[in-house]
Amino acid sequence: MIPYGRQEITQQDIDAVVQTLKSDFLTQGPQVPAFEHALMAYTGAKYAFAVNSATSALHIACLALGLGPGDWLWTSPVTFVASANCGLYCGAQVDFVDIDPNTYNLCPKALAEKLAVAKKQGTLPKILVPVHLCGQPCEMEKIYNLAQEYGVKIIEDASHAIGGKYHGSPIGNCQYADITVFSFHPVKIITTAEGGAALTNDQKLAQKMALFRSHGITRDQSLMTESSHGSWYYQQIELGYNYRMTELQAALGISQIERLDSFVAKRHELAQRYNNKLASLPITLPYQLPSTYSGLHLYVIRLQLDKINKSHSEVFRQLQEQGIGVNLHYIPVHTQPYYQNLGFRVGDFPNAEQYYQEAISLPMFHNMTIDQQDQVVNVLTEVLGR
Ligand SMILES: *Cc1c(COP(=O)(O)O)cnc(C)c1O
Repeated sequence: MIPYGRQEITQQDIDAVVQTLKSDFLTQGPQVPAFEHALMAYTGAKYAFAVNSATSALHIACLALGLGPGDWLWTSPVTFVASANCGLYCGAQVDFVDIDPNTYNLCPKALAEKLAVAKKQGTLPKILVPVHLCGQPCEMEKIYNLAQEYGVKIIEDASHAIGGKYHGSPIGNCQYADITVFSFHPVKIITTAEGGAALTNDQKLAQKMALFRSHGITRDQSLMTESSHGSWYYQQIELGYNYRMTELQAALGISQIERLDSFVAKRHELAQRYNNKLASLPITLPYQLPSTYSGLHLYVIRLQLDKINKSHSEVFRQLQEQGIGVNLHYIPVHTQPYYQNLGFRVGDFPNAEQYYQEAISLPMFHNMTIDQQDQVVNVLTEVLGR
């Protein structure tokens, strides 16, 4: 089976991890801060916090922004459940903004309309989580201007988008967001096995995220309520969690981020090749928003079902039967049973649901060979033509 995504691990990565394993520190040593500095250097953000997953990063981001009961968090329905769940972790309510049918990202026009209604009803969100689906940046300038107008904070879920650019600047620089979150799960662009990070330019948010990542405990005298009892002393001043990344993971991350640009460049090569080879099939190819550079975590096609005499699930199954490890990103979150129990209904976000009826993620990963890609192209061509 040709997988839809796969990490690339080199001898350099293995050596970095083994060296750290033999060092004095497996946790809370020099590797995590060094990885954070590499993230800051790459993106231009002032602060970065490495954590054990993007899910944890989303959680500490929401906590730092003060999300709690009575508040609302809005995100896109076409995302991994974690982008929405972080709101529920904080006791807030979650709602969704439908996607743009071309970019598959949260639609700024739908956002403007929904914000105007929410303002009248007194239900404006505290936090908006735009998700750069497939690595394609959202229309951040429009989203940011709306957020400013209505006093909404922004957490960019850039789990798919490290290495991408918006208007020529790196995703993660937080120019249009209070906080940006990355994931380093093995299928994503760079990996630390499990892992994530939260980045910000705001010193206060940074201080809070540092606390929430590690039990709410500080050794910073300026944050304490009384003077230190001695060199052992620390204070717990918030209810935090243990969301720390290990030294082994950070060592892997440092080694991987050195190859980030080549990872993304390779994905662009593969995508360009797909674009050329698939152009005549009854499918919609990925759209690229002008003046953006996608991180290209995923290559998603949409079936033009009126031109194909098979159902979406038949095409999907036939591809898998012939060794093509296709996937679907994502089942709209509001249609999940947990969210249905919160009152959401099928029909609430029609563009997201339509996308789900037609979307297929084709295999794309760093070490994909030309032969493997040709196999995907040939099988897809055959399945759609038969
Ligand atoms: C993968 C992913 C997450 C969660 O990442 P983890 O590191 O696995 O917690 C969140 N949001 C999106 C959009 C993702 O793709």
